[in-house]
Amino acid sequence: MLVDNFNRSFPYLRLSITEVCNFSCQYCLPNGYQKTGKEHFLRIDEINRLVDAFVELGVWKIRLTGGEPTIRKDFTEIAQMIASKPQVETMAFTTNGYRLKDRAQEWYDAGLNAINISIDSLNAKNFHQITGHNRMQEVRDGIDKALEVGFEKVKINVVLLKGVNDDEVDQYLAYVKDTPVSVRYIELMQTGDNLTYFNKFHLSADHVKDQLVDRGWVENIRTPGAGPAVNFTHSDYAGSVGLIAPYSKDFCTACNRLRITSTGDLRLCLFGNVGIPLRHMLQDDDQKESLKAAIRKQLEFKASSHFLAMGDTGIMTNLSSTGG
Ligand code: SAM
Ligand code: SF4
Repeated sequence: MLVDNFNRSFPYLRLSITEVCNFSCQYCLPNGYQKTGKEHFLRIDEINRLVDAFVELGVWKIRLTGGEPTIRKDFTEIAQMIASKPQVETMAFTTNGYRLKDRAQEWYDAGLNAINISIDSLNAKNFHQITGHNRMQEVRDGIDKALEVGFEKVKINVVLLKGVNDDEVDQYLAYVKDTPVSVRYIELMQTGDNLTYFNKFHLSADHVKDQLVDRGWVENIRTPGAGPAVNFTHSDYAGSVGLIAPYSKDFCTACNRLRITSTGDLRLCLFGNVGIPLRHMLQDDDQKESLKAAIRKQLEFKASSHFLAMGDTGIMTNLSSTGG
């Protein structure tokens, strides 16, 4: 197992497979994805070697993300290739849900077993305004379909935005009353690109926490190895609510994940100041041992926490580039 100098272990890899996205979320890609002409994202054979190295280092949970990962033509093939590795217990992906309704069955059959769907508002107009697309109902239908085909771990990502969706807590609670999904409120994070937006719309997750506590929701005891989300449950509700508050004290002590960018850089932290290129070590099966040694070595440099509170967002310009 990969363990760092602060005794944190890393069973979880987030793998960005593209930076391209068809949505234009205000906090992420407000002008939509702009082509650079240098879109050379990891190929499937490179991804295969990368994953082989990480699973030998103890990783058992892998998430495909982006950009919008499902935009890749070989998305199902990539998922299937990774899910077929016996060491991979959780094969997850994060999506804006735009193809979910039609593809949920195909993706489930490919071996994906956990899914995070972003839906920042249950109000169609609001959703349109935030994402640039009038597709709230389509995404909701996709969630229903995912549950119907058998996905058991379904999470709904909601970025909390002051004055935009902060009055929708009760709507989300009504949604999880009978729907067995976990709604996860994510505090808006500052990135290299979004400072003005961040200053205007950031709101502490305590805003949601206070409402949950008032309504009788109970904070669950953290299990060892669980990630940084704080989870709440209520006996009258089928679903649950999680809070992801990167600005809170001790957020980083529960860090259990490493990230790979779509071009094969290792990122020790979402907000770190270095990307360590691994792609040149993904060209031949014979490179596996040196790749594993390089990953182990780099882990020695993982810092105890990010420096977001000081406004240091590292080299990340927006989350579509690193994979949220
Ligand atoms: N396109 C997919 C999606 O939106 O689900 C996957 C990639 S997206 C970068 C992953 C998650 O990061 C989404 O839930 C998104 O809302 C979240 N995200 C993006 N930018 C963020 C920011 N600045 N602060 C907090 N969450 C952010
Ligand atoms: Fe695209 Fe996801 Fe970023 Fe929205 S949050 S613009 S869906 S990558």
